[in-house]
Parts: sequence; structure tokens; C-alpha cells
Amino acid sequence: MNDITQTERTDALIIGAGPAGLMAADLLSQAGYSVILADAMPSPARKFLMAGKSGLNLTKNEDFAAFRTNFTPLPKALRQALDEFGPTEVMTWAQTLGQTVFTGSTGRVFPVAMKASPLLRAWLSRLDQAGVDLRRKWRWSHFNDGAVFETPDGLRRVDAKVTVLALGGASWARLGSNGAWMTSLDQVKIAPFKPANAALTVDWTQHMKRHFGKPIKGVSLSCGPYTSQGEFVISKGGLEGGGIYAVSRGLREGHNLYVDLLPNMPLEHINKSLNQRKAKDSFTNVLRKTLRLGPEKIALLMEFVHPLPKDIAPILKRLPIKDVQISPMDEAISTAGGIRFDEMTDWLELKQYPSVFACGEMLDWEAPTGGYLLTACFATGRRAALGALNVLRASKDV
Ligand SMILES: Cc1cc2nc3c(=O)[nH]c(=O)nc-3n(C[C@H](O)[C@H](O)[C@H](O)COP(=O)(O)OP(=O)(O)OC[C@H]3O[C@@H](n4cnc5c(N)ncnc54)[C@H](O)[C@@H]3O)c2cc1C
Repeated sequence: MNDITQTERTDALIIGAGPAGLMAADLLSQAGYSVILADAMPSPARKFLMAGKSGLNLTKNEDFAAFRTNFTPLPKALRQALDEFGPTEVMTWAQTLGQTVFTGSTGRVFPVAMKASPLLRAWLSRLDQAGVDLRRKWRWSHFNDGAVFETPDGLRRVDAKVTVLALGGASWARLGSNGAWMTSLDQVKIAPFKPANAALTVDWTQHMKRHFGKPIKGVSLSCGPYTSQGEFVISKGGLEGGGIYAVSRGLREGHNLYVDLLPNMPLEHINKSLNQRKAKDSFTNVLRKTLRLGPEKIALLMEFVHPLPKDIAPILKRLPIKDVQISPMDEAISTAGGIRFDEMTDWLELKQYPSVFACGEMLDWEAPTGGYLLTACFATGRRAALGALNVLRASKDV
């Protein structure tokens, strides 16, 4: 290995410039400390920018008690982080970056601009003005009398009073979040990464081709203990979208997935409609005209249950989605697994690495889409920075 030619000193080193790391850098720099923010990629927050491609869902505007139930389990440090920086605080914070936000019909909160780039530009500008020193293409390799980085100019070392790790989970490696950091923290117990909020892969028959790209609305899904009212889309590769992501955890845990195609219609009502069918009506016509099932829902029914039994009503209420696979982890919106909470203090300081804190998706928590992911990244980034501030302030007092 090359020799380390240079060691720099700083108050705070943040490794990983995604939303969690940016939040930590923001707090520490605003408190007047020198901050180096290093990221392996040529530009910061690539996954955050990707999150904004289909509408940046910053948080969920709902009662805090309901909000918290989406994190299962909810370790104490995460609960504290969310208590201090929950939906209300996220909305206020976005406004401080010049982003007007609005709440959609399902309670999801978005910036009016919908994408992440205006918010990110304002955020990076604020960090720059506060003196944050952003190092691009700086890949953290390991600790050795400081944090050692592979950089375009060879190996570099940073000796920081406090370090915040914000290295992300293990999906979308091409955006920088590859989970490779696991091997650099050999003293820490890490729960294996698993896909979360993942699409499903289906080996469709030819009949489904004309439905690719079509949304399925007004259904409810259940998979073990997980349920969802959300929409999903029939894609070339399978099924994707919020409704599916919300229950994909159930499939990962070995449960079967069912779709209620008529959630607002009781079984008896469906049976009655089917029994009133006239001899000249084809079965598909009854599904379409009497029960108002669209062509995509009928196609799903035919795809997953064939031949159709005589007693079809129970199937309409509980259509089994069979022979599906969870998409590969790298394609998942997020990952479960990461640094275990019992490896950290309530301030997210690593017990085995004093003055080193961790935050964001690299920690072992899991939540559905709907703004919960980003809120937890912001909240834990902030909490780790507050822990780091305690250490910096205490070192000044000595
Ligand atoms: C398509 C898509 C849509 C999404 N939409 C939403 C949404 O609308 N709402 C929502 O709440 N969430 C959404 N998410 C999830 C959200 O983007 C992530 O949960 C969030 O970005 C995680 O933030 P983080 O800061 O923990 O990690 P990341 O954003 O993954 O950032 C980690 C950073 O660490 C850097 N890094 C990694 N290893 C090293 C190393 N060794 N050295 C130096 N740097 C390193 C990476 O380059 C990266 O910049 C979406 C995700 C995807 C993929």
C-alpha cells in the first residue's frame, strides 16, 4: 500500500455526503467548528437526488404517535432522534433552505419544486458559507491514527476530534451507497443488509405485455402482518410502487402476498352481483361492467389464478400473488440491517470507537417509503452531530 503522505487536523470529520452527513455537517459548522466533509463520489448526495426524481417525499404530515409506528423495531436512540426532529421540524427546516413544502392528499410532504436539486443547492451553499470543506472522490478506507482515505492524490489521513460516519445502506451502489464500509468497522456488530421497500420480480406471460406501465389503484395488499392501501404499477419486470414496497418486508420474512381487488365491496355483495349474471353475459363482462374491475385488474386475476374456480368471489377479495421474487438488493429503495443499536450510545457514538458517531441508513432500522426514510436520516444525522458537539465542548472545557 502507498505511504500516507499527509495528515490533516480538523475538529469534525463527516464521512458520507448524503442527507444524514449533510445534516451533521450543517449542525457542526453552524456551531463554529471546522468541518471536513468527505465523499467517495465525484459529487455529493447522489441517492438523495435520485430520490427526488419521482417527487422528493421529505416526511409525512401525521400525528407523531402514528408516525413512530412505522419504525419497527424503534430503538431508544432512534426514538429520541425522531422525538427531537420529526415531521414538523423537517417541514420547518426545509423552509430555512428556501423550500416551500406542501402536504399531498395522503399526508406525504413534498417541496413545491418536487425535486431535490434546489434544496440540495441551497444546502450545499449554506455549508460552503459556514466553511465546510467538501472533499470529493475521497473514499474512506479504515482508521489508523485517524481516518485514512483513498484520494485521487494518493492516501490521505485526517485526524479529527470527532468523526461522524454517514455512509448509507447497501442499495444503488452506482450512486455511492454500496455498504462496503462494513469491512472497515471490524470491531462493530453489523446486522446483515437486506432489501427493504423492494419491487417484485414476476416472470409474466405474454398476455401481460400490454399492461406494462399501467397503475393498479383502489386495492389493498396484505403480506403477513404488513398491509397497504397504496397503488402499484405493472412493470416489464414485475410489480413496483409504494403499495408493493410497503408489504415487501412480509415477503422477505416468508409470508404470502394477497391483493384485495375490491376492498370496498363485501364478499356477499360480490356474490350477489355474480349470481345476478344473465346467461348472455360473459364472465369478463360481469367483472368489468357489474363489478367495475378495469382491464389491468382482470389481467392480474387471470395471470395468477388459472383456471378460475366457479366460486370466484373469495379470489377477488384475496388474490394470491404467486411465484414472485423480491428484486435484487441493489435495486431496492432502501436496506434493512446495518450497525446495531446496541453497539452505540444514545447519542449514536460507537462504543468500540470513542468519538466516532454513526447515522442515517447505515444504522439497523427499517421503515416504509412515505417520507419516513429521509426523516430518520435527517434526525439521526442531527442527533449524531449533537453527540459530537458534546464531545467537542467537553474537550474545550478540559
Ligand atoms: C429511487 C429512490 C427514491 C427514493 N425516494 C425517497 C423519498 O421520496 N423519500 C424518502 O424518505 N426516501 C427516499 N429514498 C431513500 C433515501 O434516498 C435514502 O434513505 C437516503 O438517501 C439515505 O441517506 P444517507 O445519508 O443515510 O445515505 P446515502 O444517501 O446513501 O449517502 C451515503 C453517502 O456515503 C458515501 N459513501 C459510501 N461509502 C463511502 C466511503 N467508503 N467513503 C466516503 N464516502 C462514502 C456515498 O457516496 C454517499 O454519498 C429513495 C431512494 C431511492 C433509491
